[in-house]
Amino acid sequence: MNAEAAQDILQKHLRASGKLRSTPSRLAVLEAVLQSQGHFDAESLYYRMITSGKKISRATVYNTLDLLQECGLVSKYRFAEHSSRYEKAFGRPHHHHLICLECGDLIEFVNDRLNRIQEDVCAEKNFSPQSSSLQVFGTCAKCRKARI
Ligand SMILES: [Zn+2]
Ligand SMILES: [Zn+2]
Repeated sequence: MNAEAAQDILQKHLRASGKLRSTPSRLAVLEAVLQSQGHFDAESLYYRMITSGKKISRATVYNTLDLLQECGLVSKYRFAEHSSRYEKAFGRPHHHHLICLECGDLIEFVNDRLNRIQEDVCAEKNFSPQSSSLQVFGTCAKCRKARI
């Protein structure tokens, strides 16, 4: 999906939900998301936009991320109470996550065998999958080492 297609999806969503107010700043948030690589949190996206000279409120960044999630353009991962991270939901390989509950580190992995299992299960259940991501919670090697 290119930037135009993504903008189109967001604009249709805004129109459908009657949230057309401040559309330009919302498109700016989308643009910043499209430029991001990997995972990010709302706060760092906000600072990145502010430091690059964008006039935007923190609230707009947060609620636009929610809108982008609603229309499937970003995936949101909630780890602890106050820690959510986002990533683009398209243009990236199908991958899964190992999440450290101590330091919040997020390790991505791709595993063809796992993907094939998912395909088998969906075929068995006659289910048409749209997206999926396995999240494994635990303790990373660094944190385990620090304990000893
Ligand atoms: Zn850790
Ligand atoms: Zn990821």
